[in-house]
Amino acid sequence: MTRWLAEYAWLPDHAEPTPDVLIETDGGRITGVIPLTAGSRPPAGVEVLTDAVRLPGLTLPGLANAHSHAFHRALRGRTHNGRGDFWTWRDVMYTVAARLDPDSYLALARAAYAEMALAGITCVGEFHYLHHGPGGKPYDDPNAMSAALVEAAAHAGIRLTLLDTAYLTATVDGQPLVGPQRRFGDGDALRWVRRVDAFAPDGGHARVGAAIHSVRAVPADQLATVAGWADRRGAPLHVHLSEQPAENDACRAVHGCSPTRLLAEHGVLGGHTTAVHATHPTSADITLLGDSRTGICLCPTTERDLADGIGPARRMAEAGSPLSLGSDSHAVVDLFEEARAVELDERLRTRKRGHFAAADLVTAATVAGHAALGWGDAGRLSVGDRADLVTVRLDSARTAGVPPVGAFFAASAADVAQVVVDGRVVVRDGRHLTVDVPTELRTAIGEVTS
Ligand SMILES: [Zn+2]
Repeated sequence: MTRWLAEYAWLPDHAEPTPDVLIETDGGRITGVIPLTAGSRPPAGVEVLTDAVRLPGLTLPGLANAHSHAFHRALRGRTHNGRGDFWTWRDVMYTVAARLDPDSYLALARAAYAEMALAGITCVGEFHYLHHGPGGKPYDDPNAMSAALVEAAAHAGIRLTLLDTAYLTATVDGQPLVGPQRRFGDGDALRWVRRVDAFAPDGGHARVGAAIHSVRAVPADQLATVAGWADRRGAPLHVHLSEQPAENDACRAVHGCSPTRLLAEHGVLGGHTTAVHATHPTSADITLLGDSRTGICLCPTTERDLADGIGPARRMAEAGSPLSLGSDSHAVVDLFEEARAVELDERLRTRKRGHFAAADLVTAATVAGHAALGWGDAGRLSVGDRADLVTVRLDSARTAGVPPVGAFFAASAADVAQVVVDGRVVVRDGRHLTVDVPTELRTAIGEVTS
């Protein structure tokens, strides 16, 4: 057993952090959470604290990054040439996608996931659609790219939900995939099922879920096939939804309804489903999402980078949709920034303050994100949960003098001092213990961009 003594810890259902909390872990699980009364002796049974590992600062549960495309990390800072319009971004994205193979993707994803570990992320949802070789030819192992991502997460020391993505068509009216997109496609949903069924991830750190790329990329009559696979497995199902108004317009033109309505009619919505972005839903869409308890994964730093807009986060939460967070394109990997953007973007849009309490943002970044990825036993500092401990410095240039309850409005990923995943220390003193993150990122990105 290991004992950790947190200067402050954010306990479940607390509006603010609790000082002096003894956390006991054993076998990768939390076995004790004991708040010590400030300045007094520990309660009976906690006689000796000299062996406890001190955690100065604020200790949080593990952060969950519920939406990632690992290879987009190679695009950071490369999509702003000229004035950096959407097509600049997409051209670079397709160039990088065209170059990756299982070996180079392993190297790039390992470095990207290690950067996430440094930022306090203990679990990532990889929305994975780069399945096949050049021209769409399957590798000898048709799941070689999936296996590379699972191995990358193991090297980085974090958990992964591989959201294997069905990506079948280029447009809502069913135009075929062309150019680099051909690497994404399985032909039809039944062949997607056959490929995914043949994949068993190597290691207890990984599980498989499903994704529908969008209503653009999966024909309406095949949506239920993907949703049915997730339902039978009890696996999470994710889908990009209404990221831009053009998707809504195209869906109305072809199907006569919004993307959300189309998904509802084909059995895609529900408590195991997470809609990513949901930036441009109608009021009726918000009701459909909330009534079905469909989760919403907001990716504010990507949505701002791609000029998508600001989704109605408060209205969706009030309608009944749990909110989670993702770094998506990895223009930024910092869940503190994603979390506070949920509140700050609402302020910009409404010109009013006070939409989300700090504890709401913590919930989105931790337990809600883990739940969206199918890890119902993570994201809380509670007995029985996975032993994920993320400790944030409160003595950095950004956080000095900040009360612990304000940490989510002040800290950055660079303030994460220590990260424990499933009881194992992955980051100590702000350094990844097994991956030289800047060197590996530089090398891996150089391989696919030079
Ligand atoms: Zn995405």
